[in-house]
Amino acid sequence: MKKSILLILSILSFFISCSNSVTEKVIDNSQLLIPSNTENIKKIVSKEDKIILYITGSSGYIEFSTGDKISFSNLYDKTLRTEIVNNKELDFLYIPLKPFLVITYDDCPESDYSVYTNVHKLYSPVVPAELGLNIGSHALSIDKLKEMVSNGFEIVNHGYSHNRLETVALQKAVKKGEQNIHGWFVHTFLNKAEILIGNDEYKIVSHSSDSEGQYFIVDKPFSKDYEVGTNICLQRKFLENELFGQVENAEKELGTKILNFTYPYTVSDERTRKLINTKYKSSRAYNGLQFNNSKNLTNPGFNFFPFENRYQLNSASFDTDYSEKEIEQLLKVGGGYNAMIILFTHTWDKRFSEKKIKFIIDTANKIGIEISTRSKIWEYYELF
Ligand SMILES: [Zn+2]
Repeated sequence: MKKSILLILSILSFFISCSNSVTEKVIDNSQLLIPSNTENIKKIVSKEDKIILYITGSSGYIEFSTGDKISFSNLYDKTLRTEIVNNKELDFLYIPLKPFLVITYDDCPESDYSVYTNVHKLYSPVVPAELGLNIGSHALSIDKLKEMVSNGFEIVNHGYSHNRLETVALQKAVKKGEQNIHGWFVHTFLNKAEILIGNDEYKIVSHSSDSEGQYFIVDKPFSKDYEVGTNICLQRKFLENELFGQVENAEKELGTKILNFTYPYTVSDERTRKLINTKYKSSRAYNGLQFNNSKNLTNPGFNFFPFENRYQLNSASFDTDYSEKEIEQLLKVGGGYNAMIILFTHTWDKRFSEKKIKFIIDTANKIGIEISTRSKIWEYYELF
């Protein structure tokens, strides 16, 4: 279905490109044409030099000549424009694009429940959010999680034990017989993590630090020298457990499906994303201040239909990255784009405040941005 959506978006962009046009037709940018086989089917028909769009929910049709210029401000993909010219007929649904805000809490400490009772529950209906659950280790009880789920919260998998999933490169060469690895990343590999250094298997047994900084210790002396740049990653089985371990049990216990993922430390690599793709509908990464190092409000945490980046969704941290005033600006800009805005936080962080989360909810409500969760948004756009 996704391909057909692109085809429709592309058919429109094709006509935008016909700049020597005579007339200009404007499509309301709150409208979105989604191909479908449901009973709401309408048609897009290409007849000689005319394109006719029949839209469910509207009484008539829009007719374009190939010379028309079409303004459609929500086009995000213009790459398939030649393919669609030969397409005579496509079915589509009419669904309005609209802005969404996803509020998301990671790691499931007890304080997530306090924020739920002190803020989210004060609204009627309860304002939903996502909870990034470390399935193998979380502080919240099943009863509390179930209560939150029954009020619209979505549980997303945040990794079985919150171990780093992305491959890193060795920063300092090590010698055969040694057992310690130094580096900025060592705290992101947990005790008991089964890792590969190059092609060799080791298990992390403890962490410590010395004058050179933090290091982890592996279970046996290195079998050879490893140069700077040697890859360090999780062994396949250990990685799979981080992504899928105990998920089915958790789903049964919580009475809900776990359909989306959030990368620990917001990082991933291609191997991880390929595996994630086999079960989950999406995964969340980051595009806030750490990457551009400036308060660039053009695209923080914004994701656009048809969500081509579903396995690296943009998100920004609202407690550490932005002031209230900046958040307000961010919501206004993202709302104007009909973006899915993802803002995350850690309620255990000293910089988190309940006042700010209230401000975010009230501002989103004022602007008319629907606060939702990923699964609900995929449902809305029929992206399952
Ligand atoms: Zn986390």
